[in-house]
Order: sequence, then C-alpha cells, then structure tokens
Amino acid sequence: MTTTTTSRAAYVPPGDYRQLIGGDWTAAARTFEAVDPSVGRPWATLPQGTEADVESAVAAARRAFGAWGRTTPDKRQAALLAIADRFERQGERFAPLLATENGRPIREAFMADIPTVSAIFRFFAGVLHGLNGEQIPVADPNTLVYTRCAPLGVIAAVLPWNSPLITFANKVAPALAAGNTVVVKPSEYASASILEFTRLIADLLPDGVLNVITGVGPETGAALVAHPDIAKITFTGGPATARAILGAAGRTLTPSLMELGGKGAMIVAADADLECAVSDALLGIYLANGEACIAASRLLVHESVHDEFVQRFAETARGIRVGDATDPASEMGPLVSARHRDVVRGHLDRARADGVRVITGDEPLELPPGLEGGYYQRPVLLADPEGTAAITRTEVFGPVTVVERYRDDQEAVARANSTRYGLAAGVWTRDLRRAHLIADQLEAGIIWINRWFDLPPGMPMGGVGDSGFGRELSAQTLREYTATKAVNIDLGRERPALWNLS
Ligand code: NAD
Repeated sequence: MTTTTTSRAAYVPPGDYRQLIGGDWTAAARTFEAVDPSVGRPWATLPQGTEADVESAVAAARRAFGAWGRTTPDKRQAALLAIADRFERQGERFAPLLATENGRPIREAFMADIPTVSAIFRFFAGVLHGLNGEQIPVADPNTLVYTRCAPLGVIAAVLPWNSPLITFANKVAPALAAGNTVVVKPSEYASASILEFTRLIADLLPDGVLNVITGVGPETGAALVAHPDIAKITFTGGPATARAILGAAGRTLTPSLMELGGKGAMIVAADADLECAVSDALLGIYLANGEACIAASRLLVHESVHDEFVQRFAETARGIRVGDATDPASEMGPLVSARHRDVVRGHLDRARADGVRVITGDEPLELPPGLEGGYYQRPVLLADPEGTAAITRTEVFGPVTVVERYRDDQEAVARANSTRYGLAAGVWTRDLRRAHLIADQLEAGIIWINRWFDLPPGMPMGGVGDSGFGRELSAQTLREYTATKAVNIDLGRERPALWNLS
C-alpha cells in the first residue's frame, strides 16, 4: 500500500509483504503498517508474526541445519560471494527503500549502506576458510588432542531499525559462514528492506537456512529469543531490550552477542588539525540523522581551541539541509518515528532544565509543503562546559551533540570514561605519544585517532559496559558462531593398573 505523493521519489512496495519460513513466503493472519517518516503516512503493510510462525521458522531452521552445518567451506563461500555479487548488481533500488522506510537520507544510502552490505558478505566469504581448529601439544606422546570449530545450530538475529541492511549483514554473513542457520527478526520500523533483501537472495541458499519473521518486539521478538531450540541470540538494539532478552536467555541458558548503545566521546586536543576535527565531528553526529550507536554525541574540546571549534561547527550545522529523505538534496532526513522524535525532544527539554545552553538547533525549521507530517529535528549543538548534565552521559540517538571544555588530558579521559557505555571514543591530536596514551586509557571497544565513523570489514566492532559484549565485523566474529569441540585420541595401549581386568 502506498499513500505518498507522486512528486516524491518514495519507494513503492511490490505488494503486501510476507515472511520467509522454510523457503515459503507465508502470509500472516495479522498485519501492521509501516510509516514513511518523511511524511508521517503509511507506505507498506507488514506481517505481524505469531508464536506459531516463530515455531515454524525455528523448526525449519533446525531441519536445514542438518545439511547446511555439514556443507564444505567452499560451498558456503560460494553462497556468500553470490549474495555479495547479486546485491552489488541490484542493490541500488534499496536506497529509496531505506529512505522511505527509516528516513535515511538517500545520498547516504547510496554512499554507505549499499556498498557496505556487499563488502561484509565478501569479507566473511574470504575469511571462512581460516576457521580452523588446532592441534594441541600435550605431555603424553601417545595422545593426540585437536579442536574443531563446530557450528552452533539455529541463530536468532534480532535487528534494530537504524541501519537494517548493515546489521543484517553483520549477523547473517558470519552466522552462515560458520555453518549455522538463521531466523531473523527485523525491527518493526525496518522490516521491508530485510524482506526485500531476503527475496533478492533467497534462491542462493537452501530452503530453511535463512528465515525472516516480522512483528513487534515484545510479541514476535520475545517468542523467538525464548525458544528453547535457539543455539545463540545475536542482538543489536538498546540496553533495556537487551536486559529483557537476557532474562529470557537466562531461563534457557542461551548464549548471546549484544551490540548495544553508546555515548561516543570525541576528544579534540589543543594541537588537533581543527579543520579535519570539525569536519569529522559533524560527520560523527549528523550522519544517519544522528541515529547511530557509534555517533560522536559528546565533544570534549581543549579550552585553547574550544571557541574556534564551536564557532566553525555551529556555522556548518546551521546550514545543514533537513528534508525529505528520498530527496537527494537532503543532507539530513526525519527521525524514524513520532515516538522517537518525542524521545529526542524529551532529552532536549531535560538538558535545558539542567541549564545546558543550546548553541544551535532551536531555530524553527522551514519545510516545503507536503512534509508537515514528518518527524523532523534540526541538528543540535549543546554546550555544557563542565560536563555535569545528564545529557553528557545519556544516549539520545538523534542529531544532538554536546560540547564540553577541558583543561588537560587526564581530565578529558576521566570525563570521556564517565558513562556506563563503552562503544566508540576517539582523540584528535598531532602528538603520537598523546594519541597512543589516550587510546590506551579510553574505555571503549572502538577507538578512532584523527577520524571517526570508519569501520572497514576486518576491524572488530563491539563494546564494553552497557554497550554490550561480543565482536562483529571481524575474523574473530566467526568464533562467536561456533563452539570449540576438543577431540582426544589415544595412540597407544598403556592403561593405568587400577582394575584386575579379566
Ligand atoms: P530496540 O532495543 O528498541 O529494538 C531492537 C530490536 O529488538 C527490534 O527488532 C525490536 O522489535 C526487538 N525487541 C524489542 N523488545 C523485545 C523483546 N522483549 N524481546 C525480543 N526482541 C525485542 O532498539 P532500536 O530502537 O531498534 O535501536 C536503537 C538502539 O540500538 C540504540 O540504543 C542504539 O544505540 C542501538 N544500536 C546499536 C548498534 C551497535 O552495533 N552497537 C547498532 C545500531 C543500533
């Protein structure tokens, strides 16, 4: 269903969407509507998966695991490369789809999302032959011990809405590469892109190896993560949802990988290349409408360059063109939903009440006709020089960053580390010694020096603290989806003389 105006380049769905269960595209008894956040109107109808759908999808994945878990690495590699190739050839139509679905500016979808997805599948196709066990030297010469990396079984992948195709690739590519089968539950705010991606590549995998069920989290997601036949849960989303999922996983003793939120602190030292630092700070917070777990949502700037940094940053931020995500001229799109826009505004109200100054972002937003129903928010820069307000430690997940003023490196590091999150952090300096010392002291899984937002496949991605546990995007990720099986072989006939053998 589509109600968008004809003058927009919004994506038109091919019909009502269905779930993929065991190779069959299955209609659900109930549906829900996806809303285009640029205009605030429904644009697609999605299936609301039931507990019975979850049951069928997990059963199908279990059946498929029998054969897929024993395929050769060559076959799995060929499947992953075929997926990467096909998406590379046909992925462009996903840019308007992403823009319509979650408000991702279409220019970013072309620039970032589309190429990254193929790169991730290609990366895991490349490294899967390296998923070796090892031969372990032991004291007894008549004993041979070796290990194998055995696939786990059925993986439940629960996705967020902000970068749906990239998070899908981050989870599905390594899980399949290691020989597992998967049931994906995309976010209710970004299910169409996952269903369409799956439809594009479904014939490249045996039936049941990849299943997709859709629906709201507390219903469909909760049924999936509580299922006793799930071998591992891989989740990307917020810490509150993670706690609910871990509660369910505790009851079935299901292991999990958790990629959660962040409050990324970028430290800008007195000797920083200020032009590049300002440019990357803008990229760090305003890319993806600020709806990124690795956003630079906290700027710690040395007092000697603070005012110049703020002036340059604010000048550019004020000029950012906010508008329809499907319009290539838009530099920032809407927030994903009315609810999320209200959450972001709530954070801003609280910050103001805490005495935080709004440097830019309070000005009224003039939008072209037709966009009145969209969920827009101007790019915001806040000032909290001493970094005492709650906004310096709370994830906003929107185009809001707060600048603080610091005096020395120790203070900057202590303030950067003063959140429960630990996903991304970074430092801008021309001093090599300072760069390494600060990188060593920052408590986060990803550290950037003189850059932000660069995560090439191969670089481990994940956090500490409330940012979760486990690492995606790297060769070590394959181990997240296997269990070490240790095999001990007796090569001799010596036995301890414990019994009187007859
Ligand atoms: P969310 O936690 O609200 O939802 C994530 C997924 O969990 C959705 O598919 C949702 O339907 C499902 N869900 C909700 N309740 C559930 C339950 N009880 N049981 C099972 N599943 C349930 O997160 P979101 O709003 O989609 O995404 C925003 C959050 O994700 C932010 O905190 C952000 O930082 C984080 N994020 C982290 C990364 C990362 O890699 N670290 C990447 C992107 C987003």
